[in-house]
Amino acid sequence: MTESQLNPEEIDTKGLIACPECDLLIRKTEAGQGIKGLCPRCGCTLFHVKKDPIERTLILSLTGLIFFVPAMVLPIMTLDTLGLEQSTNIIQGIRALFRDGFHMVGVIVLLTAVIVPLIKLTLLFYVSMALRIRADWNNMGPTFRFYQRMDEWGMLEICMLGILVSIIKLIDIAQISYGIGLFCFVSLLIITIVSSVSLDEHTYWSLIEGPSR
Ligand SMILES: [Zn+2]
Repeated sequence: MTESQLNPEEIDTKGLIACPECDLLIRKTEAGQGIKGLCPRCGCTLFHVKKDPIERTLILSLTGLIFFVPAMVLPIMTLDTLGLEQSTNIIQGIRALFRDGFHMVGVIVLLTAVIVPLIKLTLLFYVSMALRIRADWNNMGPTFRFYQRMDEWGMLEICMLGILVSIIKLIDIAQISYGIGLFCFVSLLIITIVSSVSLDEHTYWSLIEGPSR
């Protein structure tokens, strides 16, 4: 049934979802874990309730937050010059960029490698935790919407990857060795990407907008 065939007073858009392929409007139903919702007209997948979607995202975001601190403060590389070893972590690297006058690059690295991953993981952890313990925190909707806005800037992960590639290239040309911080930074990057790709937004929204709230 299309929207034009319905009496406008009967349309309760809150409980409806539109098929992305054929625009068919379908009433949202509660679906169990592992259930796939298919469009009855064209067979397109409308939603897919993955197994333990909240538990998995909660663990991923928590792991990301745990990796965040060592990724920032542990040395990502060690420079060996005439037997003198000098280690650098991400924070020192950013400070060096500002000190040497590369302000624009410094701001980009600060945003993509530090601020945005930290905010994204914190928001995701906050919302997942609230849903997991069924807390009735009233700012869940705006918080999750803000997370989704930040997640739409997909370029940030690519910038983060760029930073990583330049570090690895530097290791190739100079007397530099990997630090444990680099391993933590790579883990942080992977966790940030996996947590946003595997996020079950449909289940999150249906729980946030659920009858108990
Ligand atoms: Zn359809």
